[in-house]
Amino acid sequence: MSDDDPRAAILAACRAMNASGLNQGTSGNVSVRDGAGMIITPSGVPYDETTPEMIVPVDAEGRPSGPLKPSSEWRMHLEIYRAHPEAGAVVHVHSPYATALSCHRRGIGAFHYMVAVAGGTDIRCADYATFGTQALSEAMLAALEGRRACLLANHGQIAFGPTLDKALWLAGEVETLARQYILAAALGEPAKLDEAQMAEVLDAFVEYGRQPDRESGTA
Ligand code: 13P
Ligand code: ZN
Repeated sequence: MSDDDPRAAILAACRAMNASGLNQGTSGNVSVRDGAGMIITPSGVPYDETTPEMIVPVDAEGRPSGPLKPSSEWRMHLEIYRAHPEAGAVVHVHSPYATALSCHRRGIGAFHYMVAVAGGTDIRCADYATFGTQALSEAMLAALEGRRACLLANHGQIAFGPTLDKALWLAGEVETLARQYILAAALGEPAKLDEAQMAEVLDAFVEYGRQPDRESGTA
């Protein structure tokens, strides 16, 4: 197993997301694009019992190989790779604050300029559908229109990025925004930035975090 084995990187991300409280138990799943398909965590296996060999390859038609079943959410992951060519990795978690908001079927509006990290003026909440279903993938894809993350009603959140580090980072940002929104909403509905103010933020984000010899921090 080499340090740049993407299967080892997936497991490191899974363990980090559980250690930080971004996820709980065997909930959540992580994948990385692999050619026309992907490699993804197996279904229902505790992350500290998962080895790199247990990560499941799934081809472009959704066919897994190997002895283990892929994550029950393989459809959501594969649909993201199909619909968003810029996606290199996908992270799905049941993070507490994003999940709490999703149980009220509420997305995160422009109460804070950082909602732009997901690519637009808000972070939507996808309609409810049973976990692992095609219906959930379709609801998710609609909520991801022009975005890199969304909430999933009565379930959690999903985020993608060009790399695994960026997908995991974005899921953490979504969780922080959800927590900040719930705190702010305890004092009443917070003020919202308007379209023009958010357009300025989205413009500024094109350059934000770009330093010589470093990748951008917001895309
Ligand atoms: P898996 O263990 O099958 O990945 O399922 C976890 C989950 O979060 C389902 O939505
Ligand atoms: Zn889930």
